[in-house]
Amino acid sequence: MRNRGYSVRRKGPSKPKDDGKSVEEFVKELRGLAAPKNNYREQSLRIHGLICAKCAREFDYKDRHLLTVHHKDGNHNNNPQDGSNWENLCVYCHDDEHSRGILADYFEQAEKDK
Ligand SMILES: [Zn+2]
Ligand SMILES: [Zn+2]
Repeated sequence: MRNRGYSVRRKGPSKPKDDGKSVEEFVKELRGLAAPKNNYREQSLRIHGLICAKCAREFDYKDRHLLTVHHKDGNHNNNPQDGSNWENLCVYCHDDEHSRGILADYFEQAEKDK
């Protein structure tokens, strides 16, 4: 009975799963170069305006980098085109909203996009 289980496994994957995953990551990265990951940011700024949703501080084009997009459900992959999961927060309010660790991660992404 144990042998049976083994033979089923052997028939299955010709490639190790880890390998497939890394290729997928690689493709994602390539696509990321073509379409910036932070694309939703521009969109959110367009939809909600250059204003912090929390402290109502207004920004203009040259200091809009101080305005960040907060994901209401905390899922950075949930980016509905109507902006319903986005909230524009200035860096101070966003910092308030999250632990520093998460925000640091956010800025890392923003840096990559430059
Ligand atoms: Zn604010
Ligand atoms: Zn956030």
